[in-house]
Amino acid sequence: MTFTRTTLDHLGISEWQLRHRPSEKPSLSLEKLNQQVIHCQRCQLSHTRKQAIAGTGHLKAKWMLIGEQPDAHDDASKNYFSGPVGVLLTKMLAAIGQTPNDVYLTTLVKCHPIDNRHPFSNEIAECWPYLQQQIDLIQPQVIMTLGPLAAKHVLRSTASLAELRGQIFTFGTKRIPVIPSYAPAYLLHNPSDKRAAFQDLLQVKALLT
Ligand code: SF4
Repeated sequence: MTFTRTTLDHLGISEWQLRHRPSEKPSLSLEKLNQQVIHCQRCQLSHTRKQAIAGTGHLKAKWMLIGEQPDAHDDASKNYFSGPVGVLLTKMLAAIGQTPNDVYLTTLVKCHPIDNRHPFSNEIAECWPYLQQQIDLIQPQVIMTLGPLAAKHVLRSTASLAELRGQIFTFGTKRIPVIPSYAPAYLLHNPSDKRAAFQDLLQVKALLT
């Protein structure tokens, strides 16, 4: 998919925004942030996790994937690309010529909720400053949210994922393009939606410089 200037204007995204990343960087390093997350006890998820996982990827990643929560495999391995979900995610990235090394992957909450329940609103709120700082540090060209909860909180929207998918939103004052998509865990059980997820990934690829 190619976005013309007209399309970008319509979306409120300038070509300059897509091609130039702001030079100012927050003083906190990703490593220090990771250490804060590892020792964090801000919410009750700290009582049941094996370990907190800040994110997987490097500071210069061009785009960010934001999921909802670490699953049990992630919790055990301290790696978001572990387990069946990680394998599927790796295949999805490969489908657009990307690898886990090209992205920064993180989640709304950094600790695995026991029984894989969805995180509560207060847990997401407590963890949000970490995600905000990660976005500020990495300054991605594009953000893709994975799952309805991630879309809802990143976009501050009450709309369903079905309503949000297929559109490009922006995040923050830097108006980073945000593309909502499905959670890989959902796609494992609903493979018929993989085609739509691939279209979402093509939208990301079209926005990367
Ligand atoms: S989920 Fe976030 S806020 Fe809660 S303990 Fe883990 S790192 Fe801290």
